[in-house]
Amino acid sequence: MVQLSRELDFPLLAGSSLPVTRRLPQVDMTLGARVEEAMCVAVGGVDGYDIHALEAMQSMVERRRGGESGVAWIHAVRGPEAVMAALRSGSFDAGGWDPELFRACLCRSHRLVPTRQGFNHHLPSSDEIQGRMTAEDNSTTSVLYRYQHRDGLKMSMLLIEGVVNDFTFAARLAGKQKPLSLQMFLPPREVCNFQGVPCSEFEDIEDLAEGMEFEVESDAGPVVITVVEIGDEIVQVDGNHALAGMNLNFDVTVCDVREATAEEIEHGHAHGEGGHSH
Ligand SMILES: [Zn+2]
Repeated sequence: MVQLSRELDFPLLAGSSLPVTRRLPQVDMTLGARVEEAMCVAVGGVDGYDIHALEAMQSMVERRRGGESGVAWIHAVRGPEAVMAALRSGSFDAGGWDPELFRACLCRSHRLVPTRQGFNHHLPSSDEIQGRMTAEDNSTTSVLYRYQHRDGLKMSMLLIEGVVNDFTFAARLAGKQKPLSLQMFLPPREVCNFQGVPCSEFEDIEDLAEGMEFEVESDAGPVVITVVEIGDEIVQVDGNHALAGMNLNFDVTVCDVREATAEEIEHGHAHGEGGHSH
């Protein structure tokens, strides 16, 4: 690819799309800001996602006073046990990160994985995070990189598969009480959930035709699939939700807050006005 770009004489740039994607909120690091500590909480996977998290953080902190000065040291740990030890340490100097930065990142996440049945208006507790990280699918993917720039800036990059599914950033600025925080927003993928189904699955259907819709059971309850193409052995179906690929913005106002009743906690949903009426 590089060779081809030289032959055709055009500039080839490579890197993560995160530094240039939309930000929620749409803010930038003030040029010349004094940044003391920064954190990125990201969906996981070494080699797949750490480069994205790194570039996301770098695009924010390189605007700090003095600009980029190089990295003095880096320390990486892998696995739920080491990550939990860092989480519980309570500060960067004790081997972890500033808990307020972590909270700020989680608050910016749109795709925080629910850790409790029913009510999910809270941030996960340490035990719930540990539970998600040690779940079968996620047990090898949690990774923490801690490093310090030569000018003293402390950085934590936490990849926690199973806890979040997006990229968030928070920074502690000198003289500011609250951290700067945002999400590096990636629009939903446009195409997902197209599947090939053996024709035998449809043998009871007379006059099977492209465009026909069927309701089928899935892990997430009943879904509607649409027949896209009928082959000799395989029928291609589209199982996407009608809103798949669209950007949905929810504008929500919290009108009232009350404690859940014992019955609501047991059922895992709210009763009364706006809730379940059975
Ligand atoms: Zn109920």
